Amino acid sequence: MAESPPAPLRLKLDGEALAGNWRALDRLSGTAACGAAIKADGYGLGVRDVVRRLRDDGCRDFFVATWEEAADIADLMDGAALTVFHGVREADIAAALGSPARPCLNTPEQAKRWHEAGGGACDAMVDTGMNRLGLDPADIAGGALEGLALETLMSHLACADEPDNPANAAQRDALAALRGRTRADRLSLANSAGVALGADYAFDLTRPGLSLYGGVQVEALAGPIRQVAFPEAAVIQRRAIGPGETVGYNATFTATAPMELAILNIGYADGYLRGFSGTGSARFGEVACPVVGRVSMDLIAVSVDAAPEIREGDWLAIDYALPAAAEASGLSQYELLTGLGRRYQRQWI
Ligand SMILES: *Cc1c(COP(=O)(O)O)cnc(C)c1O
Repeated sequence: MAESPPAPLRLKLDGEALAGNWRALDRLSGTAACGAAIKADGYGLGVRDVVRRLRDDGCRDFFVATWEEAADIADLMDGAALTVFHGVREADIAAALGSPARPCLNTPEQAKRWHEAGGGACDAMVDTGMNRLGLDPADIAGGALEGLALETLMSHLACADEPDNPANAAQRDALAALRGRTRADRLSLANSAGVALGADYAFDLTRPGLSLYGGVQVEALAGPIRQVAFPEAAVIQRRAIGPGETVGYNATFTATAPMELAILNIGYADGYLRGFSGTGSARFGEVACPVVGRVSMDLIAVSVDAAPEIREGDWLAIDYALPAAAEASGLSQYELLTGLGRRYQRQWI
């Protein structure tokens, strides 16, 4: 069978930037170890390549959401710790017992299940105010984690990207109050933005995700964190339109003068969602080419009046610096990464 032709859509991935971001977060974590949240396929980048790079740089603690995600990378762990955030359901027990990964126990039921199954090393999540996953501190006082080989007791910040929100200090103090109350050697609280909140948020282990992949939510990370993922789309057609002509579904854009368009092979099925309609932009060299009209499922139109040399088959870089792209589209930086999808040819540079 003939080999597939190269995709008309690619995602350039900067391995040096990924490693550099981890090193920066590791430095900012002070004496705490710095782990990596790699759930959702490494935030959409491709988890196996992400793990190999972070592992080679010294990362020893990885976090996924589910046992299926753990199985996808278990062979790459090489002795590093791998934690499944969502814990163990009855249906997970067999897989969990046969896996090098460990559950993060979130409820008294999960703790009891892991204990009765004779499970080994585990972590636990305590809820300190987010009211998402986690044991109540009263469950811990009541002995929910007794008899377990608990290694890390963690909690999760609800408002880390709002450095002035007093909820952060309250959550930090609630976790600190649990030091010595369980067998856990390590406490862990900070996600990416939490790492920037200061030394007293790092505890023994930090768990950044977003900022490894170029996300910047707080001023303190704007300097050290670099963009990792760079989408590029091929020009399928170039066309000229006249004044009064419209572009795309529902004719939301009307040309007021003669103009030229390039039609690019990217759309909302590639995570380039309709929030970029009329607000996104691509780039040919230094020349900006704004998105015109609605984003379709597989295509966008960009104005190329400023770049007369663009031809069918050329590649345009999609502007995807996460803070600016989030601003333009109304999507979160997390959504911009995790929505990227399967049609990109991923190329590590
Ligand atoms: C996703 C996640 C993280 C990483 O958060 P970022 O904001 O992406 O840095 C850390 N801890 C838990 C429990 C998570 O679910």
